[in-house]
Formats: sequence, structure tokens, C-alpha cells
Amino acid sequence: MAARSSLGEFCLRLLPSDRMPDFGCQFSKRNTSPITGEGVRPVGEIAFQNTMTGQKEKFVPLHPGEVRIYACGPTVYDYAHIGNFRTFVFQDILRRFLRSRGFRVIQVMNFTDVDDRIIDKASAAGLGLREYTDKYIEAFLADRRALGLEMPEYMVRATDHIGDMVQLIQKLTEKGFTYVSDGSVYFRISSFPNYGRLSKLDVTGIQPGARVDVDRYDKTDPRDFALWKAPKPGEFFWESAIGPGRPGWHIECSTMAMKYLGETIDIHSGGVDLVFPHHENEIAQSEGATGKQFVRYWLHSEFLLVNFEKMSKSLGNFYTMRDLLGRGTKPSSLRFLLASVPYRRQLNFTEDGLRQAASSVERLRNFVARVRNGKFPAGSSAMGDRAAKATAEFEQGLEDDLNTAQALAAIFDLVRDANTAMDRGEFRQDDAAPVLRTMDTFDAIFNVLRDDDAEKLRSLGIASAEAAPSDAEIEALVAERQEARKNRDFAKADRIRQELAGRGIIIEDTRNGGVNWKRK
Ligand SMILES: [Zn+2]
Repeated sequence: MAARSSLGEFCLRLLPSDRMPDFGCQFSKRNTSPITGEGVRPVGEIAFQNTMTGQKEKFVPLHPGEVRIYACGPTVYDYAHIGNFRTFVFQDILRRFLRSRGFRVIQVMNFTDVDDRIIDKASAAGLGLREYTDKYIEAFLADRRALGLEMPEYMVRATDHIGDMVQLIQKLTEKGFTYVSDGSVYFRISSFPNYGRLSKLDVTGIQPGARVDVDRYDKTDPRDFALWKAPKPGEFFWESAIGPGRPGWHIECSTMAMKYLGETIDIHSGGVDLVFPHHENEIAQSEGATGKQFVRYWLHSEFLLVNFEKMSKSLGNFYTMRDLLGRGTKPSSLRFLLASVPYRRQLNFTEDGLRQAASSVERLRNFVARVRNGKFPAGSSAMGDRAAKATAEFEQGLEDDLNTAQALAAIFDLVRDANTAMDRGEFRQDDAAPVLRTMDTFDAIFNVLRDDDAEKLRSLGIASAEAAPSDAEIEALVAERQEARKNRDFAKADRIRQELAGRGIIIEDTRNGGVNWKRK
């Protein structure tokens, strides 16, 4: 296990506490020999843990070469918090990984722009639903861009699909799954024998006819849920063939998933808090209507804790992404931290973890700059094979239910080995290309190497005085300084050097008249 020596160090750096016993740094035996293949899953085979079966299963999409994914999106009544973004970063890693394997990905994400909380908040603010939610949709899209998340192929609003929802409810009524009470339409869960399979819920003692009207309720209280809610006096409603009202939360996801992706989809993902009742209800609605399997692989990301406590406004440990960025956190540090813990494990968020993530990103960026800009003796060494091994280990980590900690360990091992080779003068010029290729493979998934934090902060309107200058900004200043030196304006050259030093950038003049720079 000598090759794994930096791993413990890496995990400790990210989570410097022994209170988190199960962080995701455990490695299965199958990774002991990535090159010979002994005990190793063949390259290319992907396995995902399926919440429905509780098993890790080989991933085979329904349509060859194409993966159809539904991802429950935000309820747009406020800014999204970092727990939400943990799930969205996981979904981004998932789609980037599948795309890197040549799959065409079709992903749908919904905006829940009508539900109990939104109606309350909008009416308290004296605004229409659309008017109220537009602001938070804009904010969410801007936050996504800052975190470097790819856009799903479809981002759709629930309120643009009311007619589709009504049709699905009518279909369920035709098949005998619904009943009406006080103008609201309910799903009768006793009519769907598979109810409770996803959440492993025992529904045998359920009171028939007991109903729940709120969109969110507890696992201890499974009851018939509302598909269509009659309006309370003064409340917003749509006129429809099934009477005036508005949809329940669950029906929107069944409707939009099947509209854009078909009756059976490959992957449905979301936070673990959605398993019950939301996803359980989605299955009942979709499979009730079609008689077909709704989802083939259910992927759920675990909770994000803050200092080992559930994040909540009352505990004062509740952070939106903008709270953190406004305090000087770089978007890349946050993305790295959220991506570094495998999605099936709880992520304990700490200030220290955030600092360590920032330094990990700096280390990776400096490494790439060193390899890219360095002048090495001609020829090649064993480093090319070393880089290929790192790529194989990186891929194997992700193939294993997106084990990002394992994938990262492979990259940091390579960084350590290549830095050592450069320090010793053993690194050769032709080693640079294969090492940079491995870093490209890494960055196609993790997306943290490009130094655009300052621009991203500016795009959110967050003052970025504390943020380091971008690569482009540094290059421009370095060029200006070179020009000054050429013109023998040494006072100006010195001023630029000092300015850069003040912003954390160190300049080194090389013997052949060139310049290297690095971040402190
Ligand atoms: Zn949903």
C-alpha cells in the first residue's frame, strides 16, 4: 500500500478531526492492483449504489449510448443553501463523468415554483407567484454558474406544466388510484401495492382514508397525499378540468420527468431527504399511471452537516452559498470541498475543511503551472506510465459509485511523485504532455483548475478585493513588467513585482530572461 501513503494525509487535510469515522477514505481491496487488473473491475464498467435495491449495481442505460436523468431541483422561495449545493455538485459530477465516458446525457431539472411555502411567502410579500419566484430562479442560475455546474438539457418550471399534471391526475383517476374530498384529489396509497418499497416503509398499519394536505411530511406518518389541492379562501388557483386548485408538490416531478424523458428513466437523483415522501410518491404516481418501472437507478446524496450538526437557521449554522462567498470563500474552494466527499457519505462542513480545500486547489493549480511552464531536460522518463496509472486509478474511483475521494487520491499521488521528480531533476520535457493529460481528465470532472474565481465573484456582485487575481490578470501584469525591464524602467518593474507580491503572487526571473510566477 506504499503508493497510497499520501491518502491518509489527504483525508486528514480535508477533515481534520477524528470524530468522523466514516468519511469515504476506505479503499476496497479491488484497487490494490490497478495495472495488472487483479481483483479489479474491468475498465469502463460503472457501478452505482441503487437506493431501491440497497445494492451496488452495474450501470447499463436503457437506450445504448444515452443516459436519461431526472434531478429534483430547488424550491425557489429563497437562496439555495450549501446543503442543496452539495446535491447539485454531486449531480454535476455524475453528468460530467457519464459524458466523459461518451454517453449522451439528457438531464431534466425542475424548478418547484409552486408549493405551500412559496404560496405563503409570495402572499406575505404581496407578490404573484411568478414575480416572487423569478428572482430566486435568477439567483440559482447565477449560483450554478459560479460553482461551475453544467446546465442540464432541460430546466423546467412546474407552473409551465399545470395542464400536463392535470392530465396525469385524470389518468390516475381512470385507473382507480384517486378519490376526491372537499374538492381536493388524493392518491389512495392502499391501491398501490408497492408503496413503501423505496423508503423501506411498513405500510401495513396505515389507516385507510387518512389524508395529508401538506407537501412535506414525516416518514412516521404515511397517508394518502394530495395530487390536486382545492384553493383556500383568497388563495391562488388554476381553473382546470378537475376543478379549481393547484398541484401538489409530488405530481410535478412525475409529470415533467415522463414528459421529457419517457415513462422509464435511467437515473433519478436528489438529496436523501427526498426519499420519503417525495420519491415514494413519485413512484406511486408514475407507475400507477403507466404500469411500467419508473426509475432504474435511484441515486441519493447524503446530508451535509456543519460542525457535526444538522444545518438549521435556529442553530445559526445555516449558510447560503452567497454567505460564504461574501466572506471571502472562493467558488473553487467550495466546489472542491463539496465534490471531494463521496456523495453517499455525510459531509461535515467546517471552516477548516474549507481552508484545506482552498489549499488543495492552489496546490493543483501551482502544479499544473509548474509542469506547463517548466523547462526540463529533453527526453522522457517513467513519468508517462506513472501518469497513465493515475488516470486509470482516477477512472476506477469514479466507476465505483462516484468515489471522488479515491479518484482525488490518485491525482494527489501523481502530483506528489511528479513534484519529487522535478525537485530531483528527473522530470523530462516529454513527460509534461502525459501528466497534463491526466490533469485534464481530472478537471473535466472536478472543474477547479481554471483560475476564474475573481470573475465569478464579480458576476455575483460580490466584491472580490480579497480574492486572488486571475491568471489572465497576472499574465498581463507580468507582460507589462517584462516590457518595463526591456525599456530599463526598473522602478516600474519593481512596482509591479511588489503589487503582485502584495496579492500573493511570487515572480521568479529565469536565467534565459523568462519569467515564472506562482501563488504563495
Ligand atoms: Zn422532485
